[in-house]
Amino acid sequence: MAVRDVIILIGPPGSGKGTQAKRLENALSLPKISTGDMLRDAISRRTALGMEAKRTVDSGGLVSDDVVNGVVAERIQAADCRDGFVLDGYPRNVSQAEAFGRSLGAGDRLSVIELGVDTDRLVARLTRRRTCGSCGEIYNLESRPPEVAGVCGRCGGDLVRRSDDTEAVIRGRMDVYRAETEPLVRFYRGNGHHSQVDGMAPIDDVTDNLVGAIRGSAPGG
Ligand code: AMP
Repeated sequence: MAVRDVIILIGPPGSGKGTQAKRLENALSLPKISTGDMLRDAISRRTALGMEAKRTVDSGGLVSDDVVNGVVAERIQAADCRDGFVLDGYPRNVSQAEAFGRSLGAGDRLSVIELGVDTDRLVARLTRRRTCGSCGEIYNLESRPPEVAGVCGRCGGDLVRRSDDTEAVIRGRMDVYRAETEPLVRFYRGNGHHSQVDGMAPIDDVTDNLVGAIRGSAPGG
């Protein structure tokens, strides 16, 4: 099997994982795999997976490990993942990390990067987030507003507020992050794969620092 660059971004809701995963996709020529995007897409298309996941996603809980592990295991078999991929929102807990770890080969180069953020500022960031319903481009009414209100500057699609970006659900998602996902940092630190980048820095600097961290942790890369 070819050597793959496998990048995992960890950070609370609103830390910029989705935005940065998209930028890394371009910078590294690796596909972004976002379990949140895949679930939202399944929900909007009303597939069996979407029907099963909708209530959980809307309430800010985690979809079952078996379902998400299966979705990712299938996705990473695709030809575009041959050289590697950038994971956004997966693994989300230690059990998913263990399952995912079993799918890695000895030659795979794993970079796990935590986006360090000031959690007090995340709720405001998320309530101002708008996402393009067509291409998934992410805007922020304060820090990155669209040129024309409500319209994606990239594809002309309608900008929407995610149904789970309301203050009550955001607070629940933060609690889920602390209980379920934060332990992953310790898990990967123990494995020697973890590094941290300042997620509150200007958006271009965050991307540059992520690329630097990935190149630094990838021998020969
Ligand atoms: P995100 O776009 O990453 O914020 O994910 C949105 C929602 O999708 C989460 O609040 C969960 O309900 C669900 N979700 C995304 N990724 C996972 C995952 N790896 N495990 C379980 N649920 C997930």
